This record gives sequence, structure tokens and C-alpha cells, in this order.
Amino acid sequence: MTTHLLNTYAPAPDVFVGGSGAELRTQDGRIYLDFLAGIAVSALGHNHPRLVRELTDQLGQAIHLSNLYRHPYAQDVATRIARLSGLEAVFFTNSGTEANECAIKIARKVAYKKGDTKRTGLLALEGSFHGRSMGSVSLTHTEKYRKPFAPLLPGVEFVAPGDTARLETLLSTRTFQALFLEPIQGEQGVKELPHDFLRAARELCTKTGTLLVHDEVQAGCGRTGTFLSADAAGVKPDVATLAKPIAAGLPMGCTVVSKEFADVFEPGDHGSTFAGGPFVCRGALVFLDLMEHGGLQEAVLARGAELRAGLADLKGEFPVITELRGRGLMQGVRLSRGAEDLQKKLYAKGLITNRTAGDVIRILPPYVVTSEQIARGVSILREALAEL
Ligand SMILES: *Cc1c(COP(=O)(O)O)cnc(C)c1O
Repeated sequence: MTTHLLNTYAPAPDVFVGGSGAELRTQDGRIYLDFLAGIAVSALGHNHPRLVRELTDQLGQAIHLSNLYRHPYAQDVATRIARLSGLEAVFFTNSGTEANECAIKIARKVAYKKGDTKRTGLLALEGSFHGRSMGSVSLTHTEKYRKPFAPLLPGVEFVAPGDTARLETLLSTRTFQALFLEPIQGEQGVKELPHDFLRAARELCTKTGTLLVHDEVQAGCGRTGTFLSADAAGVKPDVATLAKPIAAGLPMGCTVVSKEFADVFEPGDHGSTFAGGPFVCRGALVFLDLMEHGGLQEAVLARGAELRAGLADLKGEFPVITELRGRGLMQGVRLSRGAEDLQKKLYAKGLITNRTAGDVIRILPPYVVTSEQIARGVSILREALAEL
């Protein structure tokens, strides 16, 4: 097993050495169907030929430069993200957490520039997950993630998703710098916020001068069928945070800001040594190019529909399934009992998924998953459900 590692994870005993597309191979030759994609990260699956080719080429040129010098790719990545998101300007980070940290600093700086000293609080939603750093964990609702690490950021409050009246009351105090929300709460069992609540949050933030931040780290980058998941509700935030799949497995996040707030920072306000380097940007370009011109977004929609149809059949066959959640290639199967057992059975049968919020099996395949693999995954689910 593992030694000399701090006790933060309890990984499965198998050792994975490689894979291809949505399949993974262990050291002893077992093949798994990967319906987790490294927790929504490996959009192009494993060993994607174009990604391998371009990253191999980039390795022979430059991996890192710092943001004090230019390279040929960052501008192109930022332009594409602006185009796809409908927002204006990008700050590169190395993770989703850091993208949210940057968004917190943007909220602070916007209030500071306005001289609005009454606004010191941050509002987030019950059930939220925004990361594990001191700022992002302060916005994360889960008690067990917060309690041992007090004191957290002061002035953070939580409102129940869907409670528009309470949201209005809180925002009307005009003491909050920003509202943070995930349009689809991945860690909360793939829980989609009602679209009318998303629209009300947008209106109330505009009305009260509160910055609206959408954490799209998990649901964004096209996973649910639109580049930003809130596009489905016709809502644009002031700031969106992205990460997981954006560089096809390399560590990259970004904080994307609307035109109105694009001049929030000046040199020295924020930074990152590693972020936005040529190697990760080259990976992001492959992903973004396939999204824009390689049919990858269309593939997510098509495979997502096949997955949903398969899961809907299972729901008809097995009353233990109480609810299907999510869209595109971010779906959840909620069970009345046995979710932990089911996830173990699936793994034993060669299907990698995970469980969130206790009772939801979360399915996050790579965007390159094939129709045959979706059908195979559904059939493994059927077999395991029959044994539950
Ligand atoms: C994963 C996740 C994060 C944290 O991202 P890291 O890359 O692990 O730092 C933040 N918000 C949401 C919604 C996430 O799913």
C-alpha cells in the first residue's frame, strides 16, 4: 500500500498503468471502463493520439516560462475561452480551487475600487463545494470539511438552493460582495439548481450590485452540453470559474470575467508562477479546438442522450432507482438504498464510477466515450442492480 503520504485519500488497491480512450488498464492487465475520467478531468480519455502528439512536440520545446514572458499559446487559449464562454478575460490558474480564490479576490477588489466598505460578506449555497483552500473551503457548505479548520473567512453565509425569498432578503442588505454558486452541484449528488432560481439570482445580483460568480469547475467546459452549464438557463455570470477538463488532464483552471469587470486587476494584484505555461496551454488548445471544430461538443450531446436513455430504461426496471439527475456526460443515479454496495459491485465488474452525497452514483465519462461503451456501461449497471 502507500507510505510516506499524508492520510487524505484511501485509494483502491489496483495500480493503473495506462489506457486508451475511456478504458483503463491495471498493472496486472485488468481492463476497466472509466466512467469517472479522473473526476471529470480526462475529457479526451487516455492516450488521445492528437494530445500525445502535440504534448510530445511541446516537451521538446518549452514546458515552462513564467508569466513574465510570452509564449505562442496563452493568447489563443484565452481568446477561445472568451469566445466559447461569452465572457471577456481570463486569469489562468492550476486548479479549480485557485480559480475560486481568484474570484474571491475579484469580489474584494470590485468592492474596494467602489469604496464600498459596507460590503464585506460572501454568500454561497447550502450543499456547495468550491474547494479546500482556506478561502474556497469557507464557501464550501459541508460541515466536516470546515469544522476542523476554523477560523475560516469571516462573513460567509449560506442560503438554500431554490429559496429565492431568502436570497432576496440577504442580497438586499447590500453587505455581500459576491454570490457564489454551482449551477449543477456535482459533489451534492449532481443536483441541478432550478433554472428560475438561477435567473432570479442573476436579477437580484444585478439589482443589488452583487458580483455573481458561477463555479463551473465540474459542470463547465461543455460537459453538460453547453460550454457553461448555466447557458442552458440563459444566464451569464459576472465571473465563471473553470478547471477540471479544460486542459484534457493537465492541471489548469481559469477565472473568466465579463467585460464589465475585465479591468478589475492591475499588474501586481494577483499572480501564479506555474499557471498558463506553454505545456498546459498546448493541452488546453487541443481540447478547445476539438470542442470548437472537432465535433466534441456534439459527441457529448449524443453520448449524453444515449446514457440518459439507458439510465431511464434502468429506472423503469429497478424501483431502487428513485431519481436520475444531470445532463450530458454529467449524470447521477439516485438510489433508495445500497449505493455504496452498488458502486463496489460496478467496480468489481469493471466499471469505474463514484458515489456522492451518500446515495448518488455519479457518472462522468470522458467526452470521447463511444456508443458501444455507453451501452456496455449501462449493461454492467443492469447486471449489478439485479444483484443488489
Ligand atoms: C473539483 C471542484 C473544485 C475544486 O477543484 P480542484 O481542481 O480540485 O482544486 C471546485 N469546485 C467544484 C464545483 C468542483 O467540482
